Amino acid sequence: MGGGHAGAFPGVKAPRRAFSWAGSEKNLNRPKVALITFGCQMNKLDSEIAEAGLLREGFQLVDDPAEADAVLFNTCAVRAHAEERVISRLAALYPLQDRRPGMVLGILGCMAQEHGASFLDRFPRVSLVAGTSHFHQLGTLLQRALAGERIAALEGGRDPEASERDPRAVPVGPRAFVAVQRGCSMGCAYCIVPSVRGPWRSRPLEEVLEECRRVLDAGAVDLTLLGQTVDAWGRDLSPRARFSELLRAVHDLPGLKRLHFVTSHPLFLDKETAALFGELPRLARWVHLPPQSGSDRVLRAMRRGYTRAKYLETVETLREAGAGVEIAGDFICGFPGETEEDHGATLSLLEEVGFSQCYVFKYSPRPGTPAASMEAPPPEVIRRRHGEVLALHEEISARRNRELIGTVQEVLVEGPSPRDSSRLTGRTIHHRIVHFPGLGGERPGDLARVRIREASPVSLVGEREDGP
Ligand code: SF4
Repeated sequence: MGGGHAGAFPGVKAPRRAFSWAGSEKNLNRPKVALITFGCQMNKLDSEIAEAGLLREGFQLVDDPAEADAVLFNTCAVRAHAEERVISRLAALYPLQDRRPGMVLGILGCMAQEHGASFLDRFPRVSLVAGTSHFHQLGTLLQRALAGERIAALEGGRDPEASERDPRAVPVGPRAFVAVQRGCSMGCAYCIVPSVRGPWRSRPLEEVLEECRRVLDAGAVDLTLLGQTVDAWGRDLSPRARFSELLRAVHDLPGLKRLHFVTSHPLFLDKETAALFGELPRLARWVHLPPQSGSDRVLRAMRRGYTRAKYLETVETLREAGAGVEIAGDFICGFPGETEEDHGATLSLLEEVGFSQCYVFKYSPRPGTPAASMEAPPPEVIRRRHGEVLALHEEISARRNRELIGTVQEVLVEGPSPRDSSRLTGRTIHHRIVHFPGLGGERPGDLARVRIREASPVSLVGEREDGP
């Protein structure tokens, strides 16, 4: 893989600060970095890899920006709202930076790639802008920024390598994520991802397996394979490889208890992959398969490449594989040109599929995408449709969850319940969240048999059926 280049930005110099580099693990003067992550699992994974690199290069990681010499934001550009949140968190740090001159503020990832060096012009207090392919050299870039340089690292670069993941330095917990494919070569009319993350880059099978072994050796038991269109994995490799082969190979690794993959694209989820749900016992019976709309007209305008009928056919193939595969969906409400009839088609798709989970978004135009020049429905219409899709989904998921009352589910324990630490939380093989009182002695990553007693739209409550 080729190395990237990071050009110094010829703009206003940040106040120069005495900076002494110290590589020793024991040196208490090691610069402190707070890395704040927004957005998807891929971003969380990039941050984990970046943190491992920063530790290797002698930085200390802190959670509290008030203690930090540098605060870095790993950002999301998929929706305008995500960008607004980053900007407001950034601005909230200015008083802190006033009290600590020389404190570096940095923008990483998708927003950095989207706005480029202009970010340094617009935000003179920011001195580091590093794109989606520069996480591997963050330590070097940060040293320069701490020494007073203003830097935009956007061109070239490369994806992280398996050896750069250090699950012992940055613990993974029982659930770990492994990127099997980066970028996207699809051209959905609303989406900024291909322009900020580049085209598909599938990682070779052996490299994926090496990283999976590293995280399993470090204590993970539940792996999620990540890609923007994960089921298209292998299409860009030479020789071409099949996603079903990858799933089989990862499924056989020692120590694995559960295997997930996200996000799937309805065009690529083939019969071989669907058949694995009836075959591989540790493969979670859950597929995140975003339809985005239930209307053919809108799907065409979105350039999704499939029709409602094709989507339903894929769902049918998954369900025919047996083992009760659950489907999670994403929807965009208020895409340009969406009529009441189109919106009705989305509502009817929700009913027809019976999604176990849905992620429902209000359309927001992203600069440079084909949809950005198209006229969207008025904001109040988008808000109402969004509310209607959410309400219907809540009704469906409550109904689907109630069907499980009285059944016994095998739950993979994730840890204490976030709302009530006297209870444990975990997930079923169908990816449903279950809260239950432990018997004592359960650890994250254990499997527990739980009888379901109560259900809400988002989770289940139960009690242990057996001893620890
Ligand atoms: S498949 Fe479409 S929506 Fe998904 S990342 Fe690629 S371009 Fe974006």
